[in-house]
Amino acid sequence: MGKVWFVGAGPGDPDLMTVKGRDLITKADAILFAGSLVSLAATRWAPAHCEIQDSKGMDLEQIIGWLIDKAQAGQSVIRLQTGDPGLYGALIEMVQPLDQAGIEVEVVPGVSSAMASAATAVESLTLPEITQTVILTRVEGRTPMPEGESLTELAQHHATLCIYLSITLLEKVESELLAAGWSQEAPILVVHKASWPDEERIIRGTLANIRERCKAEKINSQAMIIVSPTLGARQWPSMKKSKLYDKNFSHRFRCAAKERSA
Ligand code: SAH
Repeated sequence: MGKVWFVGAGPGDPDLMTVKGRDLITKADAILFAGSLVSLAATRWAPAHCEIQDSKGMDLEQIIGWLIDKAQAGQSVIRLQTGDPGLYGALIEMVQPLDQAGIEVEVVPGVSSAMASAATAVESLTLPEITQTVILTRVEGRTPMPEGESLTELAQHHATLCIYLSITLLEKVESELLAAGWSQEAPILVVHKASWPDEERIIRGTLANIRERCKAEKINSQAMIIVSPTLGARQWPSMKKSKLYDKNFSHRFRCAAKERSA
């Protein structure tokens, strides 16, 4: 019996896949990749005999059938997913039937698009005394939001919000944030195709103008929306420093200056 690996392909640039994921690809017999977002380049390390299939036109049942067939034939199978497989990736829906079929499963994490978007814009999702919390969420589209998780409710924390799957619902994002008490001037970052060579675009704006800017740039898919009181900190004239590198702060690997001299 073979095995199925759910591998996070990262946000787009194949170099952002983990070394572990890449090593597995070099030994794979069959790779089923999520074609809409995972670049074919991600499969560039596959051996010559490897069967590579795009799952774009397949429904869940067909995907599961494909994975089970290959694993039952003794193959090493990879389901290559965008970003991290554990975020909006239908992971458990695919794992359960594999468990039922007695097929071994392992998951390799990936760089999620929220992290790639913050990185390319040189933003920190947390800052001392500004916010120490990141909420990964989406607004309600065809998938309903569970009770207590509307953006208006989550945004009341004034923590960092990384909003997936919602670029076509920017108007709703705006109105829910305003209802939660964010100002029209609150900074907002939209990154389209973060890390994709030649295709990435970074749009900065405020709640008041971001929709217009995205429209002008024709951004209506594959985009991350980040709203955070930390945005733009690179340009702030002063800010609280983190304790991590403070010379008066001890932690497990370093003694504070006072203690060292004592
Ligand atoms: N598992 C993925 C998310 C899949 S849901 C992850 O961890 O990133 C698909 C949504 O992810 C898109 O609607 C978009 O909001 C976001 N996304 C995926 N790749 C992206 C990229 N390269 N740049 C910006 N957003 C991306």
